[in-house]
Amino acid sequence: MITIALSKGRIFEETVPLLAAAGIVPSEDPESSRKLILATNREDVRLVIVRATDVPTYVQYGAADLGIAGYDVLLEHGGVGLYQPLDLAIAKCRLMVAVREGFDYFAAVKQGARLRVATKYVESAREHFAKKGVHVDLIKLYGSMELAPLVGLADAIVDLVSTGGTLLANQLEAVEHVQDVSSRLVVNQASLKLKRAGVQPIIDAFASASAHHH
Ligand code: ADP
Ligand code: MG
Repeated sequence: MITIALSKGRIFEETVPLLAAAGIVPSEDPESSRKLILATNREDVRLVIVRATDVPTYVQYGAADLGIAGYDVLLEHGGVGLYQPLDLAIAKCRLMVAVREGFDYFAAVKQGARLRVATKYVESAREHFAKKGVHVDLIKLYGSMELAPLVGLADAIVDLVSTGGTLLANQLEAVEHVQDVSSRLVVNQASLKLKRAGVQPIIDAFASASAHHH
């Protein structure tokens, strides 16, 4: 049995064509099903539906042989025990620093001000500001980062941006690029050795499907 860990939403939608290329069709739609383990058309392949941030953990410990995770999530996780053979070029977005419209981020930085930054991405943020020589106090949040500058919790946020629509709706603006993000295939290192006959064809199918697509 080969187990693939996926998260619902954007990543799942963009993974369906890749699965199809590997001859894998989920038996149910995870958006409407409450099941956490989904069968597929293939008796030897099942899907487990987990939180996006938990995908690397399931694969690291071998509870799933393969998984698809955002590079944002992989940077925070650290990638321990994971083989990362493929950038699938799906769920593309950017990790950005954003502030309230009118807040002069660059002036504050130039003055050497100590900034409060709210983010889910503390590891990536810490590395970014250290590299830039910006003094920050990081505040860990688990969601709705956009709210933090609006209610005085933080001067800035580090969050994912694709269209910028959420920032705009909340009178925020992106001021600095941190990292380009897309989703990657992650593979448990032991699974790659012990289940190679089952795992390698899936990696190969994903590779050619994502290469054909982009
Ligand atoms: P959660 O709500 O569990 O935090 P999301 O569905 O918001 O998860 O995000 C899951 C993954 O999808 C992220 O880790 C990221 O890689 C990707 N992602 C998030 N936001 C965007 C976006 N705006 N555009 C493209 N990909 C995104
Ligand atoms: Mg989200």
